[in-house]
Amino acid sequence: MLPHPVMSFPRLLCAVASQRLAPWRGSGSSPLHTTPAVCADGSAPVYTRALAFADRIALVDQHGQHTYRDLYNHSLRLSRELCRLLERADGDLQEERVSFLCSNDVSYVVAQWASWMGGGIAVPLYRKHPQAELEYFIQDSRSAVVLASQEYLELLRPVVRKLGVPLLPLPPTVYGTAPEEPGAWGVPERNWRDRGAMIIYTSGTTGRPKGVLSTHGNIRAMVWEKLLGGESPRINVFMAVPTIYAKLTDYYDRHLTLPHVQAFIRAVCEQRIRLMVSGSAALPLPVLERWQGITGHTLLERYGMTEIGMALSNPLTAARVPGSVGTPLPAVEVRIVSENPKKEGCPYVLHAEGNERETQVTPGFKEKEGELLVRGPSVFREYWDKPEETRRAFTWDGWFKTGDTAVFKDGTYWIRGRTSVDIIKSGGYKVSALEVERLLLAHPSITDVAVIGVPDMTWGQRVTAVVTLQEGHSPSHRELKEWARGVLAPYAVPSEFLLVEEIPRNQMGKINKRDLIRQFYPGDQGAPKPGTSEPASPLS
Ligand code: AMP
Repeated sequence: MLPHPVMSFPRLLCAVASQRLAPWRGSGSSPLHTTPAVCADGSAPVYTRALAFADRIALVDQHGQHTYRDLYNHSLRLSRELCRLLERADGDLQEERVSFLCSNDVSYVVAQWASWMGGGIAVPLYRKHPQAELEYFIQDSRSAVVLASQEYLELLRPVVRKLGVPLLPLPPTVYGTAPEEPGAWGVPERNWRDRGAMIIYTSGTTGRPKGVLSTHGNIRAMVWEKLLGGESPRINVFMAVPTIYAKLTDYYDRHLTLPHVQAFIRAVCEQRIRLMVSGSAALPLPVLERWQGITGHTLLERYGMTEIGMALSNPLTAARVPGSVGTPLPAVEVRIVSENPKKEGCPYVLHAEGNERETQVTPGFKEKEGELLVRGPSVFREYWDKPEETRRAFTWDGWFKTGDTAVFKDGTYWIRGRTSVDIIKSGGYKVSALEVERLLLAHPSITDVAVIGVPDMTWGQRVTAVVTLQEGHSPSHRELKEWARGVLAPYAVPSEFLLVEEIPRNQMGKINKRDLIRQFYPGDQGAPKPGTSEPASPLS
């Protein structure tokens, strides 16, 4: 998933209040940018419509306001530089990968549009990933070039030098008004639908992280249709992971206590914001209820995944069921299945099957949990360069296996959690326990480790490492954390290290992580209860 900025509440209000996106049928001052390919192919990326709204404000960030013309011209200039650098005289990068590292501002959009204008596949990098991880993403995607805004050049220089990949800086002028580009109408026609658009890395479950390749068709199927749809009302939507709502509530409780400030906040949220959405992790009921009290909004919870975009959602206008993730979005089909214990026939048993309109439950399987499968136009094309992993991610008859356990009950879908305990969701970030274990084992004092996700009201789950140490070694909690920060993304660094003499394993030598969590964190919200952490002792 892509990172969300965590804003203070006043900044959030300002940002939302000033957000103004152009409606589909605006009276832009520039002529419509309509090459025949754009008209014929409904999957064309968003920039192909930009000049229809040239003078409108597309984006507001800390540098100021940016019009669609600015975005377009800056992107076009950059895409031409890309093609020059990679010696593509015909202006087509032919799905070459373009990695880029930018801040949460206009530079991100320019880098992404430039990659698409040049016919490349955009590979967004995350600024908080350590160098080793950035190196892996650039190398694994076989990126031909790395784009970076000025503040990340130093971070990336040693990485690109090691890999022998050119680094192209985004000019500081990207934050200002863009000069008109000569031949601005000349972005070539392409068959957009099946062309690769984006690779986003998911956490590694059994191996290293996999690059999820989505086509322009997949991306278009997810949101743009609705965003640009002719009859849509003004867009003023706020989407965040549950942790952000919990943190905003916490800030509100500590700093925004005056009754007239609270009344103002509620009024602004009710009047200015049309929709507030939560996703990427289960939304705890108390968070939903507090948010309702503060803003008057009943959060709309939805379920999605990097590989499939958004799949299930509570309704926009009808009643939302707290704790459920609603029903399939248009064009999405889902199934709930379990493994077929019989050897012959279909390898799975169907419990329920549904689409936007209805869900059919197999007789005898009412309210029976199973793995959620998804099919539809937003489902990704492949894991980049990993044909075997791609094959294993789908059933024999073409359904994507989400790895989430779900149930259909009371006319709506409920997510029960990951089928695998090795996928941890913390603050909306997906963390592979196995990847964290692999990296922690490189520490000279750690001899064995099991990484678990401990339930937590704010974070969903807290990454926790149960470790055994080399005899005679006694690193402090702080030293271990400091070391982990050098090799792991901040959200994957364990918040606790529990020192044990031996990690319990069954006769097969396997660790039962659910038992570990029950043993060390028997409390409801995962706080260790006094006296029950024997034989473990927190290292701090
Ligand atoms: P990501 O690919 O990082 O977006 O993570 C996708 C995973 O997040 C899913 O497979 C689920 O495990 C989890 N997830 C997303 N939305 C929800 C939700 N509303 N409730 C519970 N889990 C969710």
